Amino acid sequence: MTRRLTLALPSKGRLREPSWNLLEASGVDPQSPGERVLQTFCRNADIDLLFVRADDVPEYVTDGIVDCGITGLDLVRERDFDVDVLLELGFGHCSLHAAVPREDGATGLHDLNGRRIATSHPHLATTWLEQHHLNAEVVRVSGSVEIAPRLGLADAIIDLVSTGSTLRTNGLTSLGVVFSSQAVLIGRHDADHEAQDTLTTLLASVIEARASRYLLFNIPAAQLGEVTELLPTAGSPTVMDLARSGLVAVHALVPASSVWSLLPQLKARGASSLLTLPVERMMP
Ligand code: AMP
Repeated sequence: MTRRLTLALPSKGRLREPSWNLLEASGVDPQSPGERVLQTFCRNADIDLLFVRADDVPEYVTDGIVDCGITGLDLVRERDFDVDVLLELGFGHCSLHAAVPREDGATGLHDLNGRRIATSHPHLATTWLEQHHLNAEVVRVSGSVEIAPRLGLADAIIDLVSTGSTLRTNGLTSLGVVFSSQAVLIGRHDADHEAQDTLTTLLASVIEARASRYLLFNIPAAQLGEVTELLPTAGSPTVMDLARSGLVAVHALVPASSVWSLLPQLKARGASSLLTLPVERMMP
């Protein structure tokens, strides 16, 4: 009999919705939980779901309450949990930045030496300072880190930033990045769980597909060589004859990030009927 897999998902906060969307996109068909329901299951897979706070997910995995879970890498590393990062999920991107008030003379991370730094990530901050042979006093705060310099509690901060607008609003300027985070799937070492391997593969296929677009266009056959050179495809594009002679149809999988610059270049070489389509899933 297949052993069921238990997966912990963030019950609230900014990682909740993208985690759920990723799971839905993977095709395991999670049963939507009702209001305040903390447990549910997947209709297409032997997976049970448990909703807990993102900060608690690493603890639940470590203690064997669940087999695996989705959380932020910062939360795993800050408390030094001994778990496997099975997959980077491509959302929840943020970085721990060191920042000082705009009027401060500091120009780079080395200027943190001798400073008093407020942070809600004391472990990551201390580890980074030690690795860079900097001496600084780390003051632990649990929230509103950005106002610590204005309150006279510290003269610098190390805090999570995704857009930088909170830093700007609080008159702070970044000295640089101390740690980069995103949402991750974590599990225990040597778990040897077939459903966990399948889930990891399925999620990876969705993440890969999200970063790709299926590109279709027609091109005069004489331009084919030049256009094929332009395409940032890993494999070879598909080329098909069209009923109208002299034209061929080209189909290729390209990185989503390349589409913006690629389309005008293709147009300039005579491409017509250009289409880009999302890709649902990709397995190598
Ligand atoms: P939440 O439950 O909303 O507090 O989510 C916290 C987690 O979301 C953090 O531990 C990070 O992994 C991630 N995250 C992504 N962007 C940010 C951000 N701008 N500030 C704080 N956490 C962020």
